[in-house]
Amino acid sequence: MIKRYLLAPGPTPVPPEVLLSMAMPMIHHRAPDFIPILESAKNGLKWLFQTKSDVLILSSTGTGGMVGAVNNFFNPGDKVIVINGGKFGERWTKIAQAYGLTVQEVVAEWGYTVKPADVDAILSKDKSIKAVFVQACETSTGVYHDIEGLGKVVKKYEDTLFVVDAISALVAEDLRTDEWGIDIMVGGSQKGLMLPPGLAFVSISEKAWKRNAASKMTRFYFNFKKEKENLDKNQTNFTSAVTLIIGLNEAIKMLQKEGLENVFKRHKTLAEATRAGAKAIGLGLYAKESPSNSVTSIEAPAGIDGQLIYKTLREKYGVTAAGGQDRAKGKIFRFAHLGYADTFDVITGIAALEMVLKGLGHDVALGKGVAAAQEILLA
Ligand SMILES: *Cc1c(COP(=O)(O)O)cnc(C)c1O
Repeated sequence: MIKRYLLAPGPTPVPPEVLLSMAMPMIHHRAPDFIPILESAKNGLKWLFQTKSDVLILSSTGTGGMVGAVNNFFNPGDKVIVINGGKFGERWTKIAQAYGLTVQEVVAEWGYTVKPADVDAILSKDKSIKAVFVQACETSTGVYHDIEGLGKVVKKYEDTLFVVDAISALVAEDLRTDEWGIDIMVGGSQKGLMLPPGLAFVSISEKAWKRNAASKMTRFYFNFKKEKENLDKNQTNFTSAVTLIIGLNEAIKMLQKEGLENVFKRHKTLAEATRAGAKAIGLGLYAKESPSNSVTSIEAPAGIDGQLIYKTLREKYGVTAAGGQDRAKGKIFRFAHLGYADTFDVITGIAALEMVLKGLGHDVALGKGVAAAQEILLA
């Protein structure tokens, strides 16, 4: 037998309370019994997104929310900036180009972030730039981009929207949608929200809705105006993902019971403990600046393939972490501490890592990484 531990940055573990809440007979999405369920989800999401604006609930993975964010607010040919610091930054570029936008990339080397001042310099020279797209957490590198700082910059430009992919950062990071001037923020169910895959969430500011009215792009499935009209009646445009929305309410209830401040503090502590554990083993962190509270990318030691570490963790010890993507493949592996994650998820990951490395012939003093993580978790 091999017991499984899920330490990947999505899908993440689903708490038993959430699983049980979803084990009930189906109800009809237009029937009166569903209305209060959707209303509660709507209010819960506003709380989590720290916004007074509505947050749309879409039946799709997170990428569907990203597609909608491009498809509903622009016109073909519009100039936009994409901050590209990894696999998901690249995805913004690909989606924007698929919809005919003209993309100017601000590239961050993998493992690094960008300076808000550099984005400011570009915007100040070209007032026709319609948006700045960024990830809060670039999951492929484990870097957190300075959303507050970028928000302050973009806010100065009347015609520029600030669009944040917070799919892997939501719940792990304090993202103040309204206060920081985030016009469009995208979340997904299977990361910090402790749900199965299948829902995307998108918050939309007043400034963004004005642009929606001026956008002539063709669209059908992700029609945010129609979604908003339905949301006002506690409905969705098409069949609601009834089961997932019931689970969403349970997940939000758990987060509310813990309190937002405590939720962020827990993620910060787990991230710090994971980094301390990796360092004590003698491994480098791939995020050279601004490491995220959602996921930690760890460099494989010289001479050992990162994919082999990732594979051995899973096959020998049942620990599913994540490998590196693209140019980081083989160089790194990643541990998430996201959503339904606590003290012994970190300890499990670090302990298994020590055993894997020793098994692969690397010189490790067993328990050193675990002890370093424990010190942080104790304090
Ligand atoms: C997981 C993730 C996505 C996309 O998620 P899907 O649900 O697979 O579409 C997008 N952006 C970031 C930063 C992610 O971590």
